Amino acid sequence: MKKAAIVGAGLGGLSASINLASKGWDVDVYEVQSFPGGKAAEEYLDGFRFDIGPSLVTMPWVFKDVFETAGKDVDQELTIIKLKEICTYYLSDGTYLKAWSDLEKFGTELEKLSEGSHRSLQKYLKEAEKAYKLGGELFLTKPIHEVRTLLKLSTLSKLIRFAGIHPISTLNKINSKFFEDPRLVQLFNRYATYNGSDPFQTPATMLIIPFIEYNGGGYGIKEGIYEIPKKLYKAAVDLGVNFFFEEKVKKINIENKKITGITIKSKFRDYEVVISDADVLYTYEELLELPRAKKAKRYRKLEPSSSGIVFYWGIDQTFEQLSVNNIFFSSDYPAEFRAMFENRTMPQEPTVYVNITSKLTPSDAPDGCENWFVLINAPANDNQDWDNIVSNAREAVINLISKRLGVNIVDHIVTEGILTPPEIERRTSSTHGSLYGISSNTAKAAFFRHRNRSKDIKGLYFCGGSSHPGGGMPLVILSGKICAQLVDKYSGE
Ligand SMILES: Cc1cc2nc3c(=O)[nH]c(=O)nc-3n(C[C@H](O)[C@H](O)[C@H](O)COP(=O)(O)OP(=O)(O)OC[C@H]3O[C@@H](n4cnc5c(N)ncnc54)[C@H](O)[C@@H]3O)c2cc1C
Repeated sequence: MKKAAIVGAGLGGLSASINLASKGWDVDVYEVQSFPGGKAAEEYLDGFRFDIGPSLVTMPWVFKDVFETAGKDVDQELTIIKLKEICTYYLSDGTYLKAWSDLEKFGTELEKLSEGSHRSLQKYLKEAEKAYKLGGELFLTKPIHEVRTLLKLSTLSKLIRFAGIHPISTLNKINSKFFEDPRLVQLFNRYATYNGSDPFQTPATMLIIPFIEYNGGGYGIKEGIYEIPKKLYKAAVDLGVNFFFEEKVKKINIENKKITGITIKSKFRDYEVVISDADVLYTYEELLELPRAKKAKRYRKLEPSSSGIVFYWGIDQTFEQLSVNNIFFSSDYPAEFRAMFENRTMPQEPTVYVNITSKLTPSDAPDGCENWFVLINAPANDNQDWDNIVSNAREAVINLISKRLGVNIVDHIVTEGILTPPEIERRTSSTHGSLYGISSNTAKAAFFRHRNRSKDIKGLYFCGGSSHPGGGMPLVILSGKICAQLVDKYSGE
């Protein structure tokens, strides 16, 4: 039987394991932690349940597809709830609006805020759809670094035309072209943060992200996001995948530029195929022991995506005016991104995202209470003084939310957990604690993500957020699928 090892049981590794096992491979997954899911973990604090990482589900077809590959029906495995109110936005001037999944309703809400913006929304989403259909979809689902993919002329020409859409334009510029009201420009600029980038630098092609959200919808999972890795793990086990938890891969062994196996606690296990779902740079530096490899050197120079600071707050009150997803915008968005990407520090006043799953699943918090997942974007970890940064950021977050809601929120926090960039790095080996691998702050960044099949080392493959097509739950699940297809094609003989 064709046999492969996977390093890491994050969503990328789980997807790769299912896709490969369904092609008849014998798959072993090694995970250093005691549970599957990686960044998509969960924690209980004093009667409150929290998803530790991802909170918003988009592209539900990706989840349907991976369960289907495992012979399961996604609707039997997960209760996926389409959110009527995708997000409540508290704008920088204190007004607020709801982004409804019903686009007519959303447009009417925008129109109330500024005349003509309903029409602008329609035109904007048309432009976004064009970009998505031209190359976005193809980019997300194909191994774009493979010569065989590029040799298909239709694919190549699509990719070139996709990359060429508004080539010197940024997301901020294209948003400013469509919307006159700066508050709405800020709202649509926010989508750059979905892959840890800066709207003032990331290319205009990123407008495919709002298209994906408004066209395909935003979703929550009734049982909690953690149910996704839990059920994928179970589906993989049912397919015959072997999991080894609390087993840290110390080394990926190579000889004459070929994979020979992996080493765990000084024990060698032979494999001709190894897939790394761990961070690309960490894989080169620590696992392959090749810190000076060309690919490692190149990767080290690329700008990491942003990281995040999360406060997990048990709140002893309910807030009817809030939705499952809420954004409290800062008053100076450009300053926020300059601080993070130019100075690698926290802005004075960060924009705050609050996700409250107890609004979907009341049992996630005690009666009359809510579980607040409070995320602010943060610079990648460079050994800054995080104690100080977190303490200042906490104060800024409390001030902003309290001002907008007219309630001193600090009086209502009954329990608290905190996640910081160095902790994200420590827990999941993400270089600089970045949430989405490298940033997409240049037009070429999308092509600089690491390829899924190593060209230099036979039998070595990559999936997960630091490889193609990038970070975020649906994308890493797609990376696992692309990776498995390549393994089967190139290592199956
Ligand atoms: C706070 C936060 C909020 C986010 N919000 C969203 C969101 O709303 N929507 C969204 O789609 N995405 C979101 N994301 C991003 C999303 O969580 C990630 O892109 C995705 O889960 C990454 O999956 P992965 O498989 O690439 O890597 P990981 O989840 O990092 O998994 C890698 C796994 O490899 C294991 N590993 C590493 N080294 C070794 C080794 N040597 N031996 C054995 N095992 C090893 C790690 O323990 C880990 O389990 C968020 C992430 C965070 C942290």
